[in-house]
Amino acid sequence: MNNSYQTRARALAPAFAAMAPEWDRTRRYPWPNIDDLVGAGLMGMTIPREFGGAGASWLDCVLAVEEVARECALSARILVESNMGAISAVMAYGTPQQKAFCAALVLEGDKPAICISEPGAGSDATAMQTTAKRDGDRYILNGTKHWITGGGVSKLHLVFARVIGKGGRDEGIGGFILHADPAPDGFEVIRRERTMGLCGMPEAELRFTDVEIPASRALLPPRGFADLMSAYNSQRVGAGTIAMGVAAGALDRATAYLNQREQFGRPIAEFQGLQWMLADMDTQVHAARLMLHEAARSGEGGFPDRNLAARAKLFASEMAVKVVNDALQMFGARGYSDAEPLERMVRDVRMFTIGGGTAQVLRTQVAGHRLAIRVPQTRDGHIPSPVAVAAE
Ligand SMILES: Cc1cc2nc3c(=O)[nH]c(=O)nc-3n(C[C@H](O)[C@H](O)[C@H](O)COP(=O)(O)OP(=O)(O)OC[C@H]3O[C@@H](n4cnc5c(N)ncnc54)[C@H](O)[C@@H]3O)c2cc1C
Repeated sequence: MNNSYQTRARALAPAFAAMAPEWDRTRRYPWPNIDDLVGAGLMGMTIPREFGGAGASWLDCVLAVEEVARECALSARILVESNMGAISAVMAYGTPQQKAFCAALVLEGDKPAICISEPGAGSDATAMQTTAKRDGDRYILNGTKHWITGGGVSKLHLVFARVIGKGGRDEGIGGFILHADPAPDGFEVIRRERTMGLCGMPEAELRFTDVEIPASRALLPPRGFADLMSAYNSQRVGAGTIAMGVAAGALDRATAYLNQREQFGRPIAEFQGLQWMLADMDTQVHAARLMLHEAARSGEGGFPDRNLAARAKLFASEMAVKVVNDALQMFGARGYSDAEPLERMVRDVRMFTIGGGTAQVLRTQVAGHRLAIRVPQTRDGHIPSPVAVAAE
């Protein structure tokens, strides 16, 4: 498959590859790469044309993300979050003013931060304690969010909070658009985590103390939290694609090395033990890619299907941890050193079974979907295919 977004992303990849070790070593945010993503029209490519974007599809985006992730997972995360997740929630459920405001920031190069997790609310996001209390024509935000990707560098924040309406009534969870440049009174970046991978990306703890948000910046879709989380299905497809892209990059590097390195008087590619490893890696990467493309296609005109997105991210993230690690193994001691990018890729890819829904939580979701499928048994005991039943 080839399309113009993919081609543009591929053109940026060599420069991104050259700088990737630097962002990792110095833990700096890759601002120059963002300029390149903006210049190539990839930042905010899925934003509708009426708001200045290119109206690209989820599949277009996924194709571009894979190309970038092969060389620089850090930049691929920025590409995902400028198209999927928080920005897609605003584009789906926001007012025209909110859409125009957020789109302009992203198209200029801002990676929005999505603020859901809290010290006491990880997998169980609905346990969040951050509140947004209605006070006339504004909301007052109080609480703490942690592990916020981009905290401290992002301007746009979509903060999830429990909405407290008139008379102290709990109105469920809503989103609040906060612009952090300059930081409003009461907004603080408390600390930055020291992560094992994706080191140029700040993961921050944020505190909100009586932060005032105009009511016009509240994102309150009809089904509340359920709608906001439906936008997250796009981010899951994006996250799975980064993992798959890193694995694809590792697979290519391993393939080249097998032909180049000689032991026992011949290229190590001639050893069947390594050939079978390589075949498994190739098969797994391809399977993940197909699942991710299927999930991306399911979202045309809306958001990716919840189950397809969960399944694809689950498979791609676990696959990538194994495939990248196996690629490192094929390089022997060289793979364990910074002479090759494999050691960084192993660290970078590790987070994808945790962030954006852990592998365990995604399994629970996939199983729940599976168990909800009605599987009628015919009189002779034949069980029709659940796929056929689900399509009824
Ligand atoms: C690099 C990175 C970036 C992140 N970026 C963001 C961000 O930008 N915004 C944001 O809001 N959050 C972000 N997060 C937070 C992320 O969403 C949470 O880490 C994730 O939801 C898991 O929550 P937790 O870490 O508190 O783990 P916990 O929920 O405490 O889980 C601990 C363990 O228990 C397991 N577990 C929990 N519940 C169940 C269950 N019901 N059944 C079986 N096992 C279960 C988990 O799988 C895990 O193994 C990020 C995390 C990371 C690592």
